[in-house]
Amino acid sequence: MADNSYDAIVIGAGVIGAAVALSMARRGRRVLGLDRLPAAGYGSTSGSCAIVRPFYSTYEGVAMGWECHFYWDGWAGYLDAPDPTALTRYIACGNTVVLCSKNKYLKHILKIMDEVGCPYELVPADALRARLPTVSLDSYLPARRPEDPDFGATNGEALPGAAFFPTGGYVTDPQGAARDLQEAAGRAGATFRFNADVAGILREGGRCAGVRLATGEILRAPVVVNVAGPHSHKVNVMAGVEEGMKIKTRALRHEVAHVPAPRGLEQSKGGTHFSDADTATYCRPESGDHILIGSEDPDCDPREWVDPDNFDRNPTEQSRIQVMRLAQRFPDIGIPQRVRTVVDLYDVSDDWLPIYDRSDLDGFYMAVGTSGNQFKTAPLVGEMMAHLIDACEGGHDHDAEPVDFHLRHIDRVVNMGFCSRRREINPDSSFSVVG
Ligand SMILES: Cc1cc2nc3c(=O)[nH]c(=O)nc-3n(C[C@H](O)[C@H](O)[C@H](O)COP(=O)(O)OP(=O)(O)OC[C@H]3O[C@@H](n4cnc5c(N)ncnc54)[C@H](O)[C@@H]3O)c2cc1C
Repeated sequence: MADNSYDAIVIGAGVIGAAVALSMARRGRRVLGLDRLPAAGYGSTSGSCAIVRPFYSTYEGVAMGWECHFYWDGWAGYLDAPDPTALTRYIACGNTVVLCSKNKYLKHILKIMDEVGCPYELVPADALRARLPTVSLDSYLPARRPEDPDFGATNGEALPGAAFFPTGGYVTDPQGAARDLQEAAGRAGATFRFNADVAGILREGGRCAGVRLATGEILRAPVVVNVAGPHSHKVNVMAGVEEGMKIKTRALRHEVAHVPAPRGLEQSKGGTHFSDADTATYCRPESGDHILIGSEDPDCDPREWVDPDNFDRNPTEQSRIQVMRLAQRFPDIGIPQRVRTVVDLYDVSDDWLPIYDRSDLDGFYMAVGTSGNQFKTAPLVGEMMAHLIDACEGGHDHDAEPVDFHLRHIDRVVNMGFCSRRREINPDSSFSVVG
C-alpha cells in the first residue's frame, strides 16, 4: 500500500471526527484523520459548553442522550486509556429544567422519557427553592431584548417547579475530550495530520476515491467522511453531494457568557446544569465557581447565519443580554460591564437534528448538522457511523432499508433513518438547540 493510501479518511478532528476515526480504526480500517487546524478539538468543539443531558424532543434523541451518559461516565474504560488521570473529567451533576409554558411544562418530553424508560424526578417549587436558595420562580415570558420597556418585568405567573434528570452533567474540557479520542484512535492504529486543509474530493469510477489538499497533495481512500463541523456545507459542496440532500446545514454564530455563579450553582457545591426556557437561557457550572451561560434562541434575537471562514469572533452585547436574562431567575448574579465571552459556531441542520448518513456519492459519508447539541453524543456517533459505513461498504442499501443501531448501555435500538439526509423535516423537533 502506498504511503498516501488509506482505508478511510476523516475530514475534521473535532470531538465527533476523532470519535469516528477511533471507531473505524477499532473495526480494523487504516484511518487517516485530517484537520486544517493545528490540533484535535480546536474547531467549534473548543467553544462547546459540553453539557450532557438526556432530554430531547424525539424518541431517538432521548435514547441517544441517555446512552451517551454511560460513555462519559466510563470514559477511561471506553478509551482503554493507559493513564486515566490525564483525561478530561465528566461531572455527572444532573440537569435541572424549569417547567414553564414555553416548554409546555415538558409534558411531551416527559412522555418520551417514560417511553424510553429514562429516569427523572419532578421537583416542586419549594424543593427547588431549597436546592437553589436565590432562585426566583416568577415567569418572564416572552423573552425580550433590553431595549424593550418590559424587559425584566414578570408576567405575573409563577413557575410550578422543575424536572431533574440524574443521568447528565458536563465535560470539563471539551477540547481535551477530542484529544483523548484522538490519542485512543492513535492507539487503535489511526494516524492524524494537522494543518492539512482539504480542498477537493476525488471521484473515480463513479465513487469517492480520496481527497486533494490545498497544497495539491493527493491522499487516496475508498471511504471519506465529512465531519467538518460548521464547514460541513462547504465540504459537501466540494463532494457535489448537496443536491441529494433534503436536509441541509449552515453555520450559526453563538455567544456564551462566563460570570461568577449564583448561590447553589457553584461547581464546588455540586451545582447542576440549569435549563430555563422561560428566560431563554441555560447555564452550567464552570471552574472557579463561575458559570457558562448560553442562549436558547428566543424569537426576539436575530439569528446570525455566517460564512464559517469569515465571521466576527469579537463578543457583542449578546452575551451580556444572556447574563441579564439569567439574572431574572437568579437575582444574585452580578452583571459585569465587560462579560468574558466565548464566540463560536453551530453547524445547524434545517430541523436542528443531526445528519449521520451516507451520501449520493458511494464511499462519501457525513456526520454533520450537529446543531449546537451533539458534543455529548460524540463517542456514540463514532460507533454509529462505523456501523453504518461497514454496512454500506458491505453492500447494504441504507437508503432503502436504514440500519438499526443497538444502544448497548440502555439496551434500546434506534433506526438510523432518523438521521437521514433524505428525511422530511421532523415536526417533533424543538427547532432549537434543545434538539
Ligand atoms: C457555543 C457552543 C456551545 C455548545 N454547547 C453544547 C453543549 O452544551 N452540549 C452539546 O452536546 N453540544 C454543544 N455544542 C455543540 C457541539 O460542541 C458540537 O456539536 C460538536 O463539538 C461538533 O463537533 P465536530 O467534531 O462535528 O465539529 P468541530 O469541532 O467544529 O470540528 C470540525 C473540524 O473540521 C475541520 N475542518 C473543517 N473544514 C476542513 C477542511 N476543509 N479540511 C480539513 N479540516 C477541516 C475544522 O478545522 C474543525 O476542527 C455547542 C456548540 C457551540 C458552538
